[in-house]
Amino acid sequence: MGDVLCTPVLVLNKNFEPVHLTTARRAFVLLYGGAAMALDESGEPYDFELWRELPVRDDDDAVPLVVGAVRVPRVLHLHRYDRTPRLQVRLTRRNLMVRDAHQCQYCGRRPAIRDLNIDHVVPRSRGGSDSWENLVTSCKPCNLRKGWKTPEEANMRLARRPVRPKWTMTAQILLGTGSRYREWEPFLRAS
Ligand SMILES: [Zn+2]
Repeated sequence: MGDVLCTPVLVLNKNFEPVHLTTARRAFVLLYGGAAMALDESGEPYDFELWRELPVRDDDDAVPLVVGAVRVPRVLHLHRYDRTPRLQVRLTRRNLMVRDAHQCQYCGRRPAIRDLNIDHVVPRSRGGSDSWENLVTSCKPCNLRKGWKTPEEANMRLARRPVRPKWTMTAQILLGTGSRYREWEPFLRAS
């Protein structure tokens, strides 16, 4: 049951735009409290009272509540939340590697993820910042070869100029999870 309560639920704002993912546990809190409606695969909205009456089918996840087994929703509609999603992509090691397609930005090799480093183009010791524009994916040999030098000093060339990625909310949501449910499709396609 612990795992089921951790499964991802797609959260939509008032305009049915994907906002983020939450957990089934949090989804039940929002649904029970009336802050959100659960949507079934046809987009039909349900409050908690109606949702708990839905039958649990073979391919549904369900949680045993006091009222009986209740289907875990996959999509939640925050019908009073009208803010549009934040599109700022978070600067993380994982996102940097995705931006750089898991490819060393100096030699172009694609080693295993564990053999990739994040390199400061202008080294920290020389005032280089932690930013999308100054961090790139690098293989360990290139990282070692570059050391505390700038690319020019090390006579190394970047494959491309590093910039902040412009990913859509959909791309970010799918990157953040290994799951993808058919109930998500209409909303992720539209955004
Ligand atoms: Zn390399």
